[in-house]
Amino acid sequence: MRRRRTLQVQIGGLRYGGDAPIVVEAMAKRPYEKIKEEIGVLAAEGAELVRIAVNTRRQAERFLTLQEECSVALMADVHFSWRLACWLVEDGVEAVRINPGNMVFEGRGFERFAALAAEQGTVVRIGSNSGSCSVVGMGFNRRVKRLVDVVLEAAERLKERGVGALILGAKSSDIKETIAANTRIARSTDHPLHIGITATGAGEEAFCRSAVAVGTLLMRGIGDGVRVSLCGDSASEVRAVKAILSAVGARRFGARVIACPTCTRCQVDLAEKVAEVKAALDGVGQKDITVAVMGCVVNGPQEAAEADFGVAFSGRRAAVFAKGVVVRQVSAKDGVETLLEVIRGAGRQRLL
Ligand code: SF4
Repeated sequence: MRRRRTLQVQIGGLRYGGDAPIVVEAMAKRPYEKIKEEIGVLAAEGAELVRIAVNTRRQAERFLTLQEECSVALMADVHFSWRLACWLVEDGVEAVRINPGNMVFEGRGFERFAALAAEQGTVVRIGSNSGSCSVVGMGFNRRVKRLVDVVLEAAERLKERGVGALILGAKSSDIKETIAANTRIARSTDHPLHIGITATGAGEEAFCRSAVAVGTLLMRGIGDGVRVSLCGDSASEVRAVKAILSAVGARRFGARVIACPTCTRCQVDLAEKVAEVKAALDGVGQKDITVAVMGCVVNGPQEAAEADFGVAFSGRRAAVFAKGVVVRQVSAKDGVETLLEVIRGAGRQRLL
């Protein structure tokens, strides 16, 4: 996967775009009184940039305090109000997202915002979405054009006024529209892109829609930061982003654990064994390995020959293997611990 070359911007200590790793993003969802705790949870899950909606002056003040207090990078999300955006920039916000679907990029408020952002070097993300861009009733091509045009026109107006630290992106609840819009924006500019799908829904269906759209764009080399929008708890969004980045090989977040789907040959609770292996591998500290957990010794080691290490269960026995070759045979209850011993031993001998 060859990543599109883009400019790079900096939000606090976080590099975004260019040669920086694709950023794991999240959006806070809890009330302001509980938001610091939520940011802590998101950061612990692996979020690198947390966006927070700012609707009032009081929230803007609280946001700026959070920016001081939190180690993870934050972005203020502003709709409708240039005045609010100006307050934030004037008081030192590092990054702000503006929706060009509901804010007009002309007039006194806009001019003041642009002048302040240019002076402070504020990162501005221009993010359109299908819900606010008056695309209802339009056909596919016109909808995509509208999503793209509002972003590019807004970016152009800001650049003319000296605002260069831009992140762009266009989201629709439709997969094809999102892919088409971001592909066009990527072809038209060298600014980094934030990608995702809006209004996905909940559960597996929502995750799959995000995974297909984001995964397709990433495989085209497009995307410098990802948010997976899910109707559910915000930490699950972070896990979803990491799963997608890991699946397309864009980033590694620890050892990759693969497992067979099981069939009638499997005589153990393999899902339980997978969970055990995943939890145990966190303590082993090896990131760049693939570990297989297989449901039978008949086919397991061969089916997972690509994995660096693995364990295959057979009723009461377990075979631990490396690159498809069985290296230890133990009782099933010792399978996971023996697998870890083998991985640690290989690490000590620098075989990893
Ligand atoms: Fe079935 Fe064994 Fe293949 Fe798992 S590894 S799917 S249990 S044959």
